[in-house]
Order: sequence, then structure tokens, then C-alpha cells
Amino acid sequence: MALVSAKEMLEKAVAGHYAVPAINLNNLEWTKAVLKGAQEMNSPIIVQVSEGAGKYMAGFKNVADIVNNVIENQGITVPVALHLDHGTYNGAYKCIEAGFSSIMFDGSSLPIEENLAKTAELAKVCAEKGLSLEAEVGAIGGEEDGVVGMGECADPDECKKIADLGITMLAAGIGNIHGVYPEGWPGLQFDVLQAIKDKVGDMPLVLHGGSGIPEDQIKEAISKGVAKINVNTECQIAFAEATRAYIEAGKDKAGKGFDPRKLLAPGAQAITDMVKTKIEIFGSAGKA
Ligand SMILES: [Zn+2]
Repeated sequence: MALVSAKEMLEKAVAGHYAVPAINLNNLEWTKAVLKGAQEMNSPIIVQVSEGAGKYMAGFKNVADIVNNVIENQGITVPVALHLDHGTYNGAYKCIEAGFSSIMFDGSSLPIEENLAKTAELAKVCAEKGLSLEAEVGAIGGEEDGVVGMGECADPDECKKIADLGITMLAAGIGNIHGVYPEGWPGLQFDVLQAIKDKVGDMPLVLHGGSGIPEDQIKEAISKGVAKINVNTECQIAFAEATRAYIEAGKDKAGKGFDPRKLLAPGAQAITDMVKTKIEIFGSAGKA
């Protein structure tokens, strides 16, 4: 099945009160493992790369080729959107050119007027090409220079302004952060989420930093309009732990256990298992 825009799958998710997992990719193993998990659960899926991961994977064109080839080779029939995560203005155009089906333009670090102008332009381009577009206002915190913030919140009026530009989905900080959540994190700010939802209506909302948010908070967020949840750190940790266990058990020293197809298999399975767990929690199982 060819790549699809995230628009239809997210509109269905809002109507059906569930969320579609958006899983960051890092390499071929990740791509195979994530798509396998989605197929086994019959769930729609968004696979995404940051610009850094795109560079690591030898460019956006290569990312698109890998995803398309894995879809064909593994017989993937569930809807798959290939998305740029936290794209710059130039990165957005590169991914449109490379064949991505969904784009995030993150202008949240720009002055709001510039963010609105660039988002409006990209909304028009993406609409013409049948691609979905995610925009962001406010900032989503995380570790910067070793200092971990406690999460920031977006301004609901700014959310309304950007939502009205013809975008598909909106990322807005509600106290969520990227990476591992720090000790003493106060949790998601549901009053802010509700205030944003009241302004933007049925616009699918995106929760970044989905790794490590307690399940009850994830479910409450979904009930208030979150339809795309980004997961990255948890897959990375699951991969690293499974790989460590394999090596610490001495399996790479036994027979041909050093063969990368054997060495990386437990980590890949751990990613598949993590994706399936997320699909279960987010409620997207059987919604393909
Ligand atoms: Zn993010």
C-alpha cells in the first residue's frame, strides 16, 4: 500500500476517541520493527524522522525509499504516513520533494507572526499536494544544555490562530517534554488542553514527548482531542536494553552470535513489542 497522508487516519481517531502512534525511525531495523508491530495489531501508523535522523539515514530520499520498500517487502496493508518531525522551513520542502506524505513545520522558536506566515504558506503547498501538515505553537520542553525543564504550555489564542491556517494537526505544549521525564514532573496540564480544545474544536492535537507519560494521563489526553502521540525515547531504551541483555549473556560470543542479523534481532523485537503496547494503550488496534 502506498504512503497516505495522516489526515484521514487522524480525523477517524478524533471521532473514535483513540490516538495513532507516531514512532520515530533511526535505521532499517527500526523501520521493519515498527511496521511489523502496526501490521500485527491492524493499526494505522505514522512513522517519522527528525532532520537529524534523516541525515543519519543518508537523506530523506533514502528514508522514503526504505519505508516504501519495507511496506512492499513485508506486505504491509495498514495505512502508513511518513512524517517529518520538527521540520525547519527548508527541511519541510526537502521532505515534500523526497516523497514524504506528511510534514511538521516547527516554527515555534520563531516570532509568532513569522511562524504563522510560514505555516500558512506550507499549509497551502501541502493541501495542493494532498499532504498533511502539523504546526506547533509555544514550546515543548526537554533537556537543553543539561537542564531539564518541567514543561511549558501553549497560549490557546495562538493555537486558534494557527489552527485556522488550514493545517491538519496541531502540536501545543501542555506540560509535556521530550526525553525522560524528570523526578517531580507535575504532569500534563489538562485545564490548558481543555482550553485549547475549546478554541480549536475537532482539530487533531499532537502530544509530543509521549514516552513515560502515565497511562491514565495519556487516556485523559486522548479524551480531550489528542489524536497523534509521538514515541521515541521508549523505543530507544527498549532496543538498548534488549541488546545489552544479549551481549551481557555472552550470546555474541557463542557460535555466530556476532552476526548483526542475530545481534540486532532482540532489540528489533523489543521495538515491535513496544509499538504493540503503545497501540494497545492508545486504542488504535483494529482501526486500520
Ligand atoms: Zn517533539
